[in-house]
Amino acid sequence: MSGISINEALKWACVQLERVSDSVTLDAEVMLQYVLGKSRTYLYTWPDRSLTSDQWHRFMAMVNERAKGHPVAHITGEREFWSLPLLVNKTTLIPRPDTEILVETALNLSLRANARVLDLGTGTGAIALALASERPDWQVTGVDKVPDAVTLAKMNRDRLKLELVEILQSDWFSAVAQRQFELVVSNPPYIDEQDEHLAQGDVRFEPRSALTAADEGFADLFYIATEARTHLLPGGYLLMEHGYQQARVLRQKMLELGYQDVATVRDFGSNDRCTLGRWPG
Ligand code: GLN
Repeated sequence: MSGISINEALKWACVQLERVSDSVTLDAEVMLQYVLGKSRTYLYTWPDRSLTSDQWHRFMAMVNERAKGHPVAHITGEREFWSLPLLVNKTTLIPRPDTEILVETALNLSLRANARVLDLGTGTGAIALALASERPDWQVTGVDKVPDAVTLAKMNRDRLKLELVEILQSDWFSAVAQRQFELVVSNPPYIDEQDEHLAQGDVRFEPRSALTAADEGFADLFYIATEARTHLLPGGYLLMEHGYQQARVLRQKMLELGYQDVATVRDFGSNDRCTLGRWPG
């Protein structure tokens, strides 16, 4: 035994992390849960239980990594998205809770039972796997340009036993050039390359290729909106996540490109977060 209780370990971690994180308690809880293999409820039901020496040393090592700025998801190697435990690494974006609104919006569309769905830039596979977990009959394909991300998404698919999800290496539509879908979704890179937030916090440890795009962050959003027109079945939808200040310009672009019923959905923090449009038919 280490002689250190759960409560003491959490308090110690919060002090260490005070200056590096604006979610110190959550960070400490997630890392301690990971080390103990227990739920959050357990931490507060048994605050006086002692950590073994091994647990305490592992926890200290993780907190020290976090104190250097590394994201918690990189330290534990996992992050939950849509209640699915996903493996995460440095090859791609860490799934964000904000993106769950895109999943929810997609699930609210009335598509046919075995609709074909494409997730562009799937990364960990988060969106594709969340959709497949809710709609087992949809034919979901997730693609990513980065080979290591493709490997990661396949690992997540296999661990979650969502074998029917197809994961392909593809530069946007390149590997599905001849195919059409009822729904195309994407959380593409959309941050302006000059954005000062890129030098702060967790995003410093994520690949730029998953975060930034040219033309004030619009390059990939516009490219996808343009190309999706030949990959959508008549009446199909395009649904993309974007920055909270990009909605108006993106809606305008989608209307110019011929999409109908173009609308923006806000996330749980009331920020404009994703925009969808229907391809006529
Ligand atoms: N929403 C993310 C962030 O602000 C960015 C995700 C993305 O570029 N697709 O960090």
